[in-house]
Amino acid sequence: MSDLVLVVNAGSSSLKYSLVDAATGDEPADGIVEAIGEDRGALTHRGPSGEHTDKRAFTDHEDALRAVLDAFEQHGPALADADIRAVGHRVVHGGELFSEPTVVDDALLAAVEELVPLAPLHNPANLEGLRVARRLFPDLPQVAVFDTAFHATLPEHAYTYAVPKAWRDEHHVRRYGFHGTSYAFVSQAAADLLGKPVEDTNLVVLHLGNGCSVTAVEGGRSVETSMGLTPLEGLVMGTRSGDLDPAVPAHLNRQLGWSLLDIDRALNKESGLKGLSGVNDFRRLTELRDAGDEDARLAFDVYVHRIRKYVGAYYAVLGRVDAVVFTAGVGENSPSVRAAALAGLDRLGIVVDDGRNEARSRDARAVSPDGADVAVLVVPTNEEWEIARQTLAVI
Ligand code: ADP
Repeated sequence: MSDLVLVVNAGSSSLKYSLVDAATGDEPADGIVEAIGEDRGALTHRGPSGEHTDKRAFTDHEDALRAVLDAFEQHGPALADADIRAVGHRVVHGGELFSEPTVVDDALLAAVEELVPLAPLHNPANLEGLRVARRLFPDLPQVAVFDTAFHATLPEHAYTYAVPKAWRDEHHVRRYGFHGTSYAFVSQAAADLLGKPVEDTNLVVLHLGNGCSVTAVEGGRSVETSMGLTPLEGLVMGTRSGDLDPAVPAHLNRQLGWSLLDIDRALNKESGLKGLSGVNDFRRLTELRDAGDEDARLAFDVYVHRIRKYVGAYYAVLGRVDAVVFTAGVGENSPSVRAAALAGLDRLGIVVDDGRNEARSRDARAVSPDGADVAVLVVPTNEEWEIARQTLAVI
């Protein structure tokens, strides 16, 4: 029997997929359908015979997933022979209802629907992915893996916002946290690299991708995290502002006459690095900064300052830290972010070794000197593998 899981991540206009061997992490195929519902749609499939792109319009997620099945048929590996065990879905918001990966049934669909008000940008698309995959794979078990689940261990004092009781009790206003699948994977991999059981390991983990967040992980459990009710809070991100005075939206509403929805959209889509420098892609930002662009310099400085502030805060939350861990696109690939964010923290035992930090590698590795009080690690994340593992564990 195989350990193959088809991992599906349905976004509002995209559908990412990956065929993963849950035992080894091998990915015999993966791909993405982009611009679903638009004229300029494209399916890119990577499999045993290389990369294939099919440019055409995809009307909806069902059309997209059918095209994915065709791509497997045409370019391999043939799904009929692959003996897939299950479909694992990334679902962004599990609210207070889901703290574990869960087999998809009608009750789960209804519950994810109920959570749409908490994640209006993400859950409807995830729901669509769940429904379509159930129709197209009626005989396979389907499992929902929630981005929030890893943070179900947050203590009350960390997840509670200081707001009126009715907001908390009736409207579920609290910190939930996201990127949980990544944190689960990276925390275990970091403990393995340190040669310690994860139960005895305290980590500050920085997930720096398009979205950015940081989590204090105590003995494998999330005890504090920077994203909140939604993924908008915390670090500076590609297009999200992260932290700001909660009075800013009301101020802009009065000054500009913008609706709160418009302001919310701008804080999610037009802020962060993009708002500061005009570009949201970190590679592009680095090029501009190196060419002397002042806005790009400021964006970089604000970005790393925010990270440093959180590292200090989470150090205090944990009391003892074994490692600061960098992961995701920026965290894994930008030595300058790692060096700048941790500069001057040697009194906390946090030191970056320049040679190690600059050396290029795709492996999990330490970039601190041997024997440092606090290790600084770079650990590539693998959310697809973690979703596949959790999916098989449930079924
Ligand atoms: P997502 O959150 O969409 O999964 P990723 O984890 O892939 O995103 O991270 C994407 C970000 O990583 C982009 O801003 C990209 O520019 C940045 N990135 C990727 N490679 C590098 C690199 N070599 N140097 C700096 N930034 C990089």
